[in-house]
Amino acid sequence: MAYAYDPQNIFARILRGEIPNKTVLETAHTLAFRDIAPKAPDHVLVIPKGPYVTFDHFCAAASEAEIVDFTRTCAKVCEILGVEDKGFRAITNAGEHGVQEVPHFHLHILAGRPLGRMLDMSEAE
Ligand code: 5GP
Repeated sequence: MAYAYDPQNIFARILRGEIPNKTVLETAHTLAFRDIAPKAPDHVLVIPKGPYVTFDHFCAAASEAEIVDFTRTCAKVCEILGVEDKGFRAITNAGEHGVQEVPHFHLHILAGRPLGRMLDMSEAE
């Protein structure tokens, strides 16, 4: 993977404590926190603490400990949010076509209302 990580991205700054966040859960390798502009009643971002740009970068380059910690943290966040009954959506955007705003891999977990279909093609160009 030839991804170049920008250590000045906003999530790197959150991880360094330079910007506050509403933490839902923090573990050795993972941070889960509330999105600043929530698109649903519950909108949590789960990020690895390591310098990974996108989902595929993380999957390819992260250690097994980081990957297990990340996935187990996602499960705990879902439990904290209580999504088992009504469900949720997990999304990750990557790169230009994925319209990724922050170049630090993050999983969006959205819940708390019906979320519509996965893609609104009216927004595709
Ligand atoms: P992306 O478009 O990269 O998949 O999503 C980036 C997300 O990060 C957006 O949903 C945006 O609202 C969120 N975000 C951007 N800046 C901040 C911030 O400073 N704090 C928090 N908590 N979320 C942010």
